[in-house]
Amino acid sequence: MEHMSQTIEFLKPRSSVLDNRAKIIADLTDLLPPECLIHETRELVPFETDAFVSYRRLPLAVALPQTTAQVSALLKYCHRYGIPVVPRGAGTSLSGGAIPQEDALVIGLSKMNRIIEMDLFNRTATVQAGVTNLSISEVASPEGFFYAPDPSSQLACTIGGNIGMNSGGAHCLKYGVTTNNLLGVKMVLVDGTVLELGGKHLDASGYDLLGLVCGSEGQLGIVTEATVRLLAKPEGARPVLFGFETSDEAGACVADIIGSGIIPVAIEFMDKPAIEICEAFAKAGYPLDVGALLIVEVEGSENEMDAMLADIVAIARQHGVKTVRECQSAMEAAAIWKGRKSAFGATGRIADYICMDGTVPLSQLSHVLQQTGEIVASLGLRVANVFHAGDGNMHPLILFNANDPDEAARAEEAGNRILRLCVDAGGCLTGEHGVGIEKRDLMRHQYSDADLDQQMAVRSAFDEDWILNPSKVFPLDGRPA
Ligand SMILES: Cc1cc2nc3c(=O)[nH]c(=O)nc-3n(C[C@H](O)[C@H](O)[C@H](O)COP(=O)(O)OP(=O)(O)OC[C@H]3O[C@@H](n4cnc5c(N)ncnc54)[C@H](O)[C@@H]3O)c2cc1C
Repeated sequence: MEHMSQTIEFLKPRSSVLDNRAKIIADLTDLLPPECLIHETRELVPFETDAFVSYRRLPLAVALPQTTAQVSALLKYCHRYGIPVVPRGAGTSLSGGAIPQEDALVIGLSKMNRIIEMDLFNRTATVQAGVTNLSISEVASPEGFFYAPDPSSQLACTIGGNIGMNSGGAHCLKYGVTTNNLLGVKMVLVDGTVLELGGKHLDASGYDLLGLVCGSEGQLGIVTEATVRLLAKPEGARPVLFGFETSDEAGACVADIIGSGIIPVAIEFMDKPAIEICEAFAKAGYPLDVGALLIVEVEGSENEMDAMLADIVAIARQHGVKTVRECQSAMEAAAIWKGRKSAFGATGRIADYICMDGTVPLSQLSHVLQQTGEIVASLGLRVANVFHAGDGNMHPLILFNANDPDEAARAEEAGNRILRLCVDAGGCLTGEHGVGIEKRDLMRHQYSDADLDQQMAVRSAFDEDWILNPSKVFPLDGRPA
């Protein structure tokens, strides 16, 4: 489907690069084996966008290096000739983080997909950046371990991309997001220098550069290897469905569960449209006679789970819960999570959508949900809400028809208003999907000039000429001359 919405600008492509494309491609063939370089137009098409499909640009070329040394050689070359570089994992970014521009070399990490070491004694895994998120848990599972951050895209998305966006997921309420589970990286700086940060040990002395790199959206360097924490699998885990008459009741219940000091593994929220969309797709057994649903997962021994659930049920009753359904089997639990994790794909079957990612204090959840509904309705559109409620990380999916330019513009306007609402409610623009190009022009709504200047100074310290993932994160007019 052709997507028409085009209000976000990219930096003007550098003529010094476009005019020398043939020479650049010839040079790149000296740095890589032939199967690792893509430059024919039809083969570049899969790289022109990511999961933020409203925008697309064909890149100059795509390099798919197999080693850190090749990444280093590529960056050294691009740095020398001022060629913009866009790092790419699986291209599942929902904020346009991996969308290239016409003068950019995309450096994709998909060929660097080897698990280097599972160190079960130290409970760490060291993997190349192109390894998918889920495959770490798949390999660790028979030994009784798992890697906690679980984005719904975990079948496809890469550890490099997770680090780029500091990704989260349903189970991050208890275990934290990528930055809380990342111990070390090998990365290549813009001039080709290879740097190792952190390691198997818990913390590092000096400035927390690892923390800085996690969530830096490919602008401080290219990660080629990562060491992550493995956790022992819990004795048991049980998702429970709580159905409410209204979103308001469900939102207030979430705030009270967390406010009471209980931290389940996950609290996920779905409103009525989301329940219907997910149930039609996954046949997960969600109740269809409720206005909002919480999936609350507890884990531990049977006794621990029973005790925690009793407390949660008591809170839910205070908020008029209509249905409480404990899952009875591993198969039922898998179906419940399949329904939740396929929410975006299931929505994509019925309409185009853009997914917002604002995060708010839990006390604001009900208010922001209600205002979100009003904003979307006032622009003549529909919304489905499905999100990580325990973290206050909201995902309104604004439904629209991308072939209708007016509708697409209204969807974008709704998204902007909702993100401003989240910031005004004491929250922030993004909980886990990153700024990318999608939220770049709203950064001034969240940050003061002094704050943004300081962030940009950090970026400049790593990449003076701003060739790494340009056009992203910072407003185009904010860039230092
Ligand atoms: C259906 C669906 C569900 C999703 N669910 C979730 C969810 O639950 N939680 C969540 O957090 N996100 C979710 N996402 C968003 C997305 O999957 C994450 O942002 C993911 O981490 C991106 O990984 P990727 O490998 O696709 O990276 P890409 O999209 O290719 O890149 C993401 C960013 O990281 C940078 N980057 C990529 N690789 C590297 C590297 N090796 N070194 C440095 N920078 C790099 C890129 O330049 C870009 O800025 C979802 C997306 C989809 C489509």
